[in-house]
Amino acid sequence: MRPLVITAFLALLGAVLIESGRAQSQSVGSQRGHLPLVDAHIHYSAPDWASHPPERVLAILARAGIQRALVSSTPDDGTLALYEKDPGRIVPMLRPYRTREDMGTWWDDPTVIPYLEERLKRRVHRGIGEFHLHADQARTPVIKRLAALAARDNLVLHAHSDEAAIIELFRLEPRLRIIWAHAGMSSGPREVGALMDRYPTLWADLSIRNEDVAPGGGLDPEWRALLVRHADRFLVGTDTWTTSRWDALADSIAQVRVYLSQLPPDVADKIAFRNAQRLFP
Ligand SMILES: [Zn+2]
Repeated sequence: MRPLVITAFLALLGAVLIESGRAQSQSVGSQRGHLPLVDAHIHYSAPDWASHPPERVLAILARAGIQRALVSSTPDDGTLALYEKDPGRIVPMLRPYRTREDMGTWWDDPTVIPYLEERLKRRVHRGIGEFHLHADQARTPVIKRLAALAARDNLVLHAHSDEAAIIELFRLEPRLRIIWAHAGMSSGPREVGALMDRYPTLWADLSIRNEDVAPGGGLDPEWRALLVRHADRFLVGTDTWTTSRWDALADSIAQVRVYLSQLPPDVADKIAFRNAQRLFP
């Protein structure tokens, strides 16, 4: 073939391949629109209870296709109320917060450890968190005891933290298993990837990151590469940190399904539910 003909042929071939690829991913996406999900970031805190009784909350989760959810609440009674009604769906996590005010002081409050130990005696909680911990806050005797407690009882930590606090937690106790809430919230794919490379027992939930992972719905190429590279350690989530988030949950889950549909099916399955099932069998 002459060069011009070859060029035209290759262009045509390319167009055909792109079209068939698109058609294929669309049909896979629509067939797979109802992947079961494990939501790694749910709260059911006191302000939610009056307007959203447990039955209503469990119905919202079920309607969104959320088969299981990691739930932590301030106070913990919210989590236990949901767990009692639907133990198969709820994975209880224990926050170090007895009241909302604890959020600002807990890492330096020695009464937090006996509180956690007392609640953990129920043997229903699978981890400690979600807690907020940044920078030097991780360098207190309370956090040292928290890390030792988690390692002793094989509890997963759910940390809303910056990179420095994650590094400090692993320095205190390299055996820890940590879910990094919101994948660091403001950390980009390069930073998230670097910490995951360094710590093989660091997972990350993608709650509140839908617009970073897939701006306007289209999967960001750098995030896509990271999700594929560490496909075994990402989890989806919504984060019902305030009551209005319960009514926004369906939309947030719809966004999650849009980015999952753009990933290879085996990767999407892992991030949708398999990784969480492995962490919390
Ligand atoms: Zn949260």
